[in-house]
Amino acid sequence: MPPKKCRALLSQLSDYVDGSLDPRLCKALERHLRTCPNCRVVLNTLQKTIDLYRTVGENEDMPTEVRERLFRRLDLTEYLK
Ligand SMILES: [Zn+2]
Repeated sequence: MPPKKCRALLSQLSDYVDGSLDPRLCKALERHLRTCPNCRVVLNTLQKTIDLYRTVGENEDMPTEVRERLFRRLDLTEYLK
């Protein structure tokens, strides 16, 4: 179970990867990522999976349903809440 701060930030991670996250929150997230290897691993995994999806999926935005499946697969469901 990641610390509370990580959970709060990781819940923003899919928006961050989408580029739809508020710039101020992006900054806070990036600051945290610099100091937190755990969150960096999660971000890397998510980023790779999404890149893969985009390559296969004709550059469409990832539907919520797919994202939820992905988060479940990555065992990140607690971040979806
Ligand atoms: Zn963290």
